Order: sequence, then structure tokens, then C-alpha cells
Amino acid sequence: MLRNIFFSTLLLAGSFLAQAQDREYVIVVHGGAGDVAKLESDPVRSAQYYAALDSALMIGDCILAAGGEGPQAVMAVINYFENNPLFNAGKGATCTAEGTFELDASIMEGKDLSAGAVAGVKTIKNPINAAYAVKTKSPHVMLSGTGADAFAAEQGLELVDDNMYFATPKTMEWIDKLKQESRKNGTVGCVVLDKRGNLTAGTSTGGTFKKKWGRIGDSPVIGAGTYADNQSCAVSCTGHGEYFIRHAVAFNLCARYKYLKEPVEQAAGYIIHTELNVNAGEGGLIAVDKDGNIAFPFNTTGMFRGYLYKEKGRSGIEKKVGIGKAMVRFTE
Ligand code: ASP
Repeated sequence: MLRNIFFSTLLLAGSFLAQAQDREYVIVVHGGAGDVAKLESDPVRSAQYYAALDSALMIGDCILAAGGEGPQAVMAVINYFENNPLFNAGKGATCTAEGTFELDASIMEGKDLSAGAVAGVKTIKNPINAAYAVKTKSPHVMLSGTGADAFAAEQGLELVDDNMYFATPKTMEWIDKLKQESRKNGTVGCVVLDKRGNLTAGTSTGGTFKKKWGRIGDSPVIGAGTYADNQSCAVSCTGHGEYFIRHAVAFNLCARYKYLKEPVEQAAGYIIHTELNVNAGEGGLIAVDKDGNIAFPFNTTGMFRGYLYKEKGRSGIEKKVGIGKAMVRFTE
């Protein structure tokens, strides 16, 4: 009983601290941070998000349980989010000031610090796959705009005929009323510790509503929105990208862990609640360290998130999802 209360308190604080050296594999996902008060009071809509987070975790679990590698799991999970109109990534992405769609994504592997990213792409159905292709099939780390779209075509990745493929009835309403203020949260991310002990992180987004002039946020910037290093952590961020770039949030967390020897939960909490808050940088992040400890702090009212892990020598998995402050066990 006391133990349950202790754990609930930690979870309510928006992060999770445990000695996790005995974890065989771990997966943490996010679907964006922001104001979730209205959504939380709508049981039908919030159930859709719980179900989507749960499905994303189960997709990752299937791959990791079978011995799949981190990038495979991260891409499959992010593809699921990108194809789901609930989230601000792939189909469902937020729109630019011109009523078009420009997408960003990145992926990084902690075993060799290899990384790939695409920014401002308009025709790639699943930008995270293009980011992976940049990492594995090009000598570069980041490709942007029409060049990145052309590279994806050369690699045989799935393209969409029309940029409006990414629109949904909701974004069409916004495009009709572009003069109004509106905001869509729902950048997606996934971090994984696989059975080999390798860390991987990935992030995919439509960016910020009404962005102009080819604006690029933190999500495709290695060190800002995404970072993975087997000597420290895998991190994926969501929030006000300009601040996440200025504070090099994803790398900053790994550096605090590695050089200051701060536990992942402490390093993540410091950056999100102290460094970013004083500068009004709204958002959150998900992280897993090399031992399988996890953290998911946010300084907004909520963040779509979930985690799943399997302990060595034990059958069954531990899994929870959350939208607001509390985490729930959605399904067994
Ligand atoms: N960080 C993303 C960006 O600034 C947006 C978000 O996560 O909501 O492009």
C-alpha cells in the first residue's frame, strides 16, 4: 500500500525514477505537450489518445520482444503516429501560414552517434523513414526542402502526390481561418533501449501552426529535439522549438547525465522546469538512460506519453500511458 502511494506520487510529478539495471528493453513514446485541460474533460476524445499511445507502445513491444533493433522499433512507432491524424506529424500535421504542410523529422543511434534528419519536406509520407535513409544511405546528417524530397524519391520511399494529403478536416478548418490563433500539439517521439543495450531516439513533426519563411524547429536538429548516446541517454523533445534549440535540450540532458553524473530524472527535470521555464519555453521530453531508467517531465498541463518495459527473467511487461498529470494503466 505504502509502496503504491510512493510510486503514484512520483508518477504524478510527471517522471519516473527506479533502479532499472534489470530491464531487458524499454520504450517511451510521446505525442506532444501542451494544454490538455479541455481534452481531459472529454472522455471520448481522451480515450482515442490513450488507445493510440497504447497501440504505439505495443507496436514497439512486438519488435523489441522479438529481438528487433532500436531504429526498427522507433521507425515503426513513429510511422504509426505519422499515419494517425490525431497527431501533429505526417497526416494530421499542422499547417504553415500559407496553408501548406512542411514536415521535419530526425533519428539518432547511440551506439555510433550516427544520425539523420529531414527538414521542411512536402511530399514524403513518412518523414522519419527519410531521416533514417539520410543516416544510412547518405554521407550527410540533415537534408532540407526540395533536395530532401528528391533524395527520398531516389531512395524509393513512399511519396504523396499532393501536399494536401497531410490535411485533415480539422486542419482544413484552420486553413479556412488562418487569421485566427490556434495551435495543434502532437509532435511525436520515441526513445528505446533495445535488448542489445543500444539506445535510439526519433522525433517527427509538422512544426508550429502558421510558421513562415521555411521556419525549422528543434525536432530535426540533432542535440536540440533528438539525441542518443550509449554512454548516457536517448531523448526526444516536444514544445516551443526555438527555446529547445537555444538550450540544446536533448544534448544538454545527456551532458548533465554524463559529466555531472545526474540521474536521468533529475537532469531532465532541471532542464524542463528550471532552465526552460524561466525563459517561457513550454514543452516536455521523454528520455531513457543506458540502464533503462526513464523520465518524461513537462512544464505544460499535459503531454501525451507512455512507457513500456520488460524486466529480465520475468514474464509480462509494465506499461502505462498518460495525458495530464497522472499516468494510467490503459489495458493489461
Ligand atoms: N517542437 C516542435 C517545433 O517547434 C513543435 C512541438 O513539439 O509542438 O517545431
